[in-house]
Amino acid sequence: MKLHTQILLGLALGAAAGVTANLLTHQQVALASQLLQAGVSADSLAAAVPAGAVWVERANRYAMGPVGQVFLRMLFMVVIPLVFTSLTLGVAGLGDLRKVGVVGSKTVFYFLASTALAAIVGLVLVNAVRPGEGLSEAVRTSLMETYRTEASERVSQAAATQFGIQTFVNIVPRNPIKAAADLDMLGLIFFSLVFGAALTLLPKEKSGPVVRLLEGVGEAVIKIIGMAMKLAPYGVFGLIFVVTSRFGFALLKPLGLFVLTVLAGLVFHTVVNFSVILRLLVGLNPLVFFGRVRSAMITAFSTSSSNATLPTTLAVAEQELKISPTVAGFVVPLGATLNMNGTALFEGVVVLFLAQVMGLHLSLATQVIVIVIAVLTAVGAAGVPGGSIPLLVIVLQAVGIPGEYIALVIGVDRLLDMCRTTVNVTGDLTAACVVARWEGGWTPDALRAGA
Ligand code: ASP
Repeated sequence: MKLHTQILLGLALGAAAGVTANLLTHQQVALASQLLQAGVSADSLAAAVPAGAVWVERANRYAMGPVGQVFLRMLFMVVIPLVFTSLTLGVAGLGDLRKVGVVGSKTVFYFLASTALAAIVGLVLVNAVRPGEGLSEAVRTSLMETYRTEASERVSQAAATQFGIQTFVNIVPRNPIKAAADLDMLGLIFFSLVFGAALTLLPKEKSGPVVRLLEGVGEAVIKIIGMAMKLAPYGVFGLIFVVTSRFGFALLKPLGLFVLTVLAGLVFHTVVNFSVILRLLVGLNPLVFFGRVRSAMITAFSTSSSNATLPTTLAVAEQELKISPTVAGFVVPLGATLNMNGTALFEGVVVLFLAQVMGLHLSLATQVIVIVIAVLTAVGAAGVPGGSIPLLVIVLQAVGIPGEYIALVIGVDRLLDMCRTTVNVTGDLTAACVVARWEGGWTPDALRAGA
C-alpha cells in the first residue's frame, strides 16, 4: 500500500474511532481530561464523569497522545535545520543578490495577494450568510461562561503580543541560536536569508565547502523526514483520535452556521481559487496537483501546524511536484511562516461573525481595514496550533469588539484550525508552483516526465 494511502487510512480510522468514543462516552472525555489534569480524587472523578470517558482519556494519555506526539516531535525536530539549510541554500543557489531580490519580491507579492484574496472570500461569505445574527442570547451566555478562562488567557497573551513597529524590529534576531531555540521562525528566516546572501558574496573557494556541508546536512534531514513519515499513519491516527474523542460535537449545532461559513470559504478558496491560479498562472491541471500534494494536506490537517508540516511540504514540493530545491527551499519555508491563506479567511469570518453577534455594524471601510489587518496578522501568526488566536484578539479589539468574545468560537477552534492549516499548506505548495513557473524555469511537464 502506498504511504499516502496508509496515512489517509490512519486519518479515517482515527477519526471514526475517536468520534465513536466521543459519542459512546456522552462527550465527557474533555471533562475527564480536565479533571485528571487537576488531580481530583478517584471518587469525585467517578462521580463527575462516566467510567468510559475516563478510560478513553487514559488511552489518550498513555497510548494515542504519545504516539501522535512522537510523530509530531520527529517533524519538529528537523524544522530548525531544515529551515536554515533550505533557505540558505535557496538564496545561495539563486546566485546573485539581484535575483534573490526579484524572486523574493515576487514570492512575497504572491503571498500577500493570495492571502488578501482569501480574506475577501471570507468576508463576502460572512456578509451573505450572516451566521452571527441567529445566535441566541442563551447560547451566547453559556459559551461565554464555559470558555471564560480560556478566553481570558488568550486576551492576556494578546496583551503580551506586540504588534506594531516593534514586530518588524524583532524580525532581526539578537541571537540566531536563541531565535532557533525559541522557534522564532521570523528571526531564523531572517538570519538564514542574510547568511545565504553573504555566501553569494564570497569567492567560490570559500563558499563552496560551506554550501556542500549544508547540502549534506539538508539531505540527512530529508532522510529523517522519510523516517518520520513512516510513522505518519500511526501518528495521524493518534492525533486525530485525541482531538475527535475530546471534541465537543454538541457545539456544532449552535455554531453550525458559523462553522459552515468558514468551511465553505476554505473549500471555495481551495477548490476554486487555487485551481484557477494553477490553471492560469502555472498551466497545471489542479487534479494532478491535488493528487500529488495529498500527504502534505493530510499532515497539515492532523497536526494543525504549518511548521510541523513543513518537512512534509518541502519533500512534497521537491519529490512530488519536482520543483528544484533552490526554489522550493526558498518559497516553502517562507510560506510556512508568512503565507497563511486559510488563517486570513478564518480571521475575516470571525471578526464579522462576532460583530454580527454584538449587533455592531461594520462599514465597508472598516471591512477593508479588517482585510488589511487580517492579512498582516496572518503573516505574523506562528505556524503552530491556534497560532493565530492571540493576533485575532488584536484584530477584534482594533474594530471595537472586546477580546473576550473570542470565547464564542474557541470551542470549535481546533476543528477549524485543522481545516485552515490544510489550506495554509496547500497555499504554500501553490505558491511554490507559481514562483517555480515564474522564475525557476519549471513547467508542469516536469510532472509528466517524472511520473
Ligand atoms: N495553525 C495554523 C498554522 O499552523 C495557524 C493558525 O491559524 O492558528 O498554519
